[in-house]
Amino acid sequence: MRKNIVAGNWKMNKNLQEGIALAKELNEVLTADKPNCDVIICTPFIHLASVTPIVDKNIIGVGAENCADKAAGAYTGEVSAEMVASTGAQYVILGHSERRAYYHETVDILTEKVKLALANNLQPIFCIGEVLEEREANKQNEVVKAQLASVFSLSAEDFSKVILAYEPVWAIGTGKTATPEQAEEIHAYIRSLVAENYNAEVAENTSILYGGSCKPTNAKELFAKPNVDGGLIGGAALKAADFKGIIDAFK
Ligand code: PEP
Repeated sequence: MRKNIVAGNWKMNKNLQEGIALAKELNEVLTADKPNCDVIICTPFIHLASVTPIVDKNIIGVGAENCADKAAGAYTGEVSAEMVASTGAQYVILGHSERRAYYHETVDILTEKVKLALANNLQPIFCIGEVLEEREANKQNEVVKAQLASVFSLSAEDFSKVILAYEPVWAIGTGKTATPEQAEEIHAYIRSLVAENYNAEVAENTSILYGGSCKPTNAKELFAKPNVDGGLIGGAALKAADFKGIIDAFK
């Protein structure tokens, strides 16, 4: 059975001390009131080695927000998948729309990143989603299909470690959420593509998260849809109470 997951994406927020404080607070509240889903926090690189030892890994998994498309060597400023894994992190967000848009990450670059993440035992949280003009032109299905090429060349065994996150770019950080019906429609389509590329069992076992202005007030109705297996949360992951409110949507 696929897992229900709530994952936070801190983006470029929180200095080290603030990040440690947030991770500690989250660990405390989730230890006191255990979640009914998997919980992951994805933090800036510099936080990883400090955050992994302070969270109970039976309750909170830790991930990075990116990794390099090269294994090692003269790539000044880059952080490899192996380095991420050496901090104790178990996940890595790949293909976030901000990386695709601002850092020109292409399908080919992301294919390399996915392979390196898996080779280093990191589970990719692989993001896909269309921009507003593509949605308005009703091109969302072809956009996500093309983006999935970065993970669809994996073996079924490797693909089973991938978590998908559908994030319509027009809903990220805008306060504009996809309706539960819009989310369900495209999540069902994404799952059908997984079935076509692999098989029905692989598709049934793939967690597909929704991301884009998810909040405690709208999480329950989004997560209630049969093909929405949780959320990837940006802004609302920066406050323990808000993040917990979203996690509690599974209660
Ligand atoms: C994100 O960037 O992954 C995201 C979903 O952001 P927000 O929740 O702030 O829209």
